[in-house]
Amino acid sequence: MPVNDIIVTPEFKPTSADRLVPHIPGVLFQFYRSRCGHMHFPYLEGGGKVLAHIDRQQLSKDASQLLEQLTGSDYPKVMSAIERSARWMLPLTTRFRLSFPKEKPHWIAVSANPEPIETGVRWNGIMMDITEQVIEEQRLRQLSDTDPLTGLPNRRKLMTQLTHHTSMSTRHGSPLSIMMIDIDHFKQLNDRWGHLQGDSVLKQLATLTPTLLRCEDIVARLGGEEFMVVLPLTSLQQCHKLADRLRKTIAAHDFGTGKGSVTLSIGLAEYRCGEPLNSLVERADQALYKAKGIGRDCVCLLP
Ligand code: GH3
Ligand code: MG
Ligand code: MG
Repeated sequence: MPVNDIIVTPEFKPTSADRLVPHIPGVLFQFYRSRCGHMHFPYLEGGGKVLAHIDRQQLSKDASQLLEQLTGSDYPKVMSAIERSARWMLPLTTRFRLSFPKEKPHWIAVSANPEPIETGVRWNGIMMDITEQVIEEQRLRQLSDTDPLTGLPNRRKLMTQLTHHTSMSTRHGSPLSIMMIDIDHFKQLNDRWGHLQGDSVLKQLATLTPTLLRCEDIVARLGGEEFMVVLPLTSLQQCHKLADRLRKTIAAHDFGTGKGSVTLSIGLAEYRCGEPLNSLVERADQALYKAKGIGRDCVCLLP
């Protein structure tokens, strides 16, 4: 059996006063919740910024000072993580934001093991400041969700949002429509004005389109010269009006290539309660195909 006890070799140099824990960038703790729900920290030790602005004496009597600082969704998230851990005796693993004076909130990660005791539950664990890591995660997520040319959400992000909105639509019985948009004869525009000017048209279109819709509508670039708009709480009839307005405005706009040189074909579809996403997208695609067939610069829907 391996021995996982404290190891102290002759090379170990205690940092000060023979104590190491106050110098680690995190906090070791014991957290206790009584049967009646009172919570406190019988033990707290460590360094770093984690609890720099929190009165540890206070926490040793009552944990509410820390819990009351949690804002937004963090409070219910942490409380339900504690509840789940206590009920099923599973490790407590969560993260939350903690306010710091004159600074942006810091992200704190918690990892602790529960043990049942006669009067409640006791956890032994650690808290670490993971702000840098969370900022990096957010940066990477933003990169993987964004189309680099236009800054719009990409197909991956759009599909996540569409999944969310279709499930809301199913749950509440509210309407939801989508527009599938494709620039007409874009290859010709590239051939005539060059690829860089083509890129500029795509960027301008990405800036202009959201201003012609409502703030809750989501505009994404699917790839190439294809875009999709998701319109929550919107019937096919309302969607048709918005699509027509968008089409007319774009046709009258000068993108630096002369008015009328950029036109859109738009296919519409309204979500049918419970239908698979593929089917919704496919119907909008077929409507777009129909718009191309009719002669472009128009809005179509399937019967
Ligand atoms: P249609 O009206 O049938 O849609 O014709 P189209 O020329 O728009 O369609 P097609 O699929 O034949 O050509 C799409 C063109 O879009 C070809 C490709 O070079 C261009 N394209 C795709 N992505 C980009 C991009 O990021 N920048 C630029 N400038 N052009 C792009
Ligand atoms: Mg296309
Ligand atoms: Mg096209």
